[in-house]
Amino acid sequence: MSGLATIHVDGAWRRSLGGATRDVLDPADATVLAVVAEGGAEDADAAVAAARRAFDAGPWPRTPVAERAALLRRTADLLQRDREEIARTESRDTGKTLEEGRADVDDVTSAFRYFADLVVNESGGRVVDAGTPDVHSVVVHEPVGVCAMITPWNYPLLQASWKIAPALAAGNTFVVKPSEVTPLSTVHLARLLAEAGLPPGAGNVVTGAGDPVGARLAAHPDVDLVSFTGGLASGVKVAQAAAPGVKKVALELGGKNPNVVFADACATDAGFDTAVDQALNAAFIHSGQVCSAGARLVIEESVRDRFVAELARRAARVRLGRGTEPGVECGPLVSREQLEKTEAHVAAALADGATLRCGGARPEPSGVRPEGGFFYLPTVLDHCHGDMRVVREETFGPILTVETFHTEDEAVALANDTEYGLAGGVFSADTARARRVAARLRHGTVWINDYHPYLPQAEWGGYGKSGTGRELGPAGLAEYRETKHIYENLRPAPVRWFAG
Ligand code: NAD
Repeated sequence: MSGLATIHVDGAWRRSLGGATRDVLDPADATVLAVVAEGGAEDADAAVAAARRAFDAGPWPRTPVAERAALLRRTADLLQRDREEIARTESRDTGKTLEEGRADVDDVTSAFRYFADLVVNESGGRVVDAGTPDVHSVVVHEPVGVCAMITPWNYPLLQASWKIAPALAAGNTFVVKPSEVTPLSTVHLARLLAEAGLPPGAGNVVTGAGDPVGARLAAHPDVDLVSFTGGLASGVKVAQAAAPGVKKVALELGGKNPNVVFADACATDAGFDTAVDQALNAAFIHSGQVCSAGARLVIEESVRDRFVAELARRAARVRLGRGTEPGVECGPLVSREQLEKTEAHVAAALADGATLRCGGARPEPSGVRPEGGFFYLPTVLDHCHGDMRVVREETFGPILTVETFHTEDEAVALANDTEYGLAGGVFSADTARARRVAARLRHGTVWINDYHPYLPQAEWGGYGKSGTGRELGPAGLAEYRETKHIYENLRPAPVRWFAG
């Protein structure tokens, strides 16, 4: 595959039909990391046609479930074989650290293995009691058809895999459009799927922009399902484009996630240390470019000053640099656009009365922070409130806002005061309180005394404007299946409803 042949249609790697290309930048220094094919609507059409043929007449949907599961397991093994190479690609492309890139490959490997096991365990039909021995009634699952998958730039390999693994397990064919900002690991994954034996046309990739490629996929009459992960505004457009075709639509959108810390969590030195450390991790891992980032610290007033002072002290010591450099803890933001959005959010918050506790600027270039990179210092903004843009809108940068409460009810009200509902954390030494609050949070994932872990066997997704549908877990497979009831009369006889 040459560097430009990043479009995969019907088993062949090729350039875009229009001949256009795109420079993919290294966010650490803004130099060109790779040049890829810039697909257009005609490339999307060709990929959908290939996926359609592969679904309607190809072998994949008719491949026995055990063989489909075996292909997923081979893919998992290949991901582990190429672990270092993929982790480095992901780190260079997104800016995240090499260690995070490795963790992504391991998580994705687990997801492929999980869906391989799940689909085998859940492959049988469900016989239902029709109330008479003369009827055999069974509910079976079938693939939905051609799936379009549109993914974001923060977890390119992971987001693509959370869609591809269950879709293939269920017997679908697909076209994936990775983010134009970070397409490289998805191209690598498609090569591994082909190596694992996926038939031509069953898995296709079109690199290119949201509009026209993503928009075309969402609207295409031959696409049966659209699974989108990305921002709210793009998600709404995708849902609108898919609506006339009454496609199945799954949306995994943004979040403005609260991390609720009660004073009792900080009563001991160990508890305080843990809660501060977790708040730091919740907000700043991957420079805050995480849909579930704990970007809103919602903390009991009595411990705020001590907590925020320690948090700011540690945030100011985070080692920034190129993600592939040893010892670096946070890489750059993914693009100049993200950097400028982060700056605008901080400026607006300061103008609205927030207090800057640390950060609030681009760092000076240094040995590990190359010139021209999209770096921004981890930033803590105290005295924030719900009318501020930085509290309401996703920044997707290393910004932590601080809001305070006095009572449990206030804590819950603040945590739920968002149009999103993706994730949130609760830190408390009082188990009953922590569980009570967790039960009242309107978010798709709630962590108690932890932040960020997820499991392939547990559903992931959002309430409110964080989306519709779920990924991972049994529901993550169900998204990619149709359900059919087959009612068989074993003793056919006239009904005599009409006299005749
Ligand atoms: P984005 O919405 O800008 O882009 C996401 C994808 O949609 C890209 O591939 C883009 O090319 C495509 N796209 C853009 N406009 C489109 C259109 N009109 N039609 C079809 N496709 C279009 O998002 P981003 O900036 O790449 O990613 C960050 C966002 O993703 C954040 O909001 C984040 O919260 C969200 N996200 C959510 C989850 C989750 O699990 N809920 C996970 C990761 C990221």
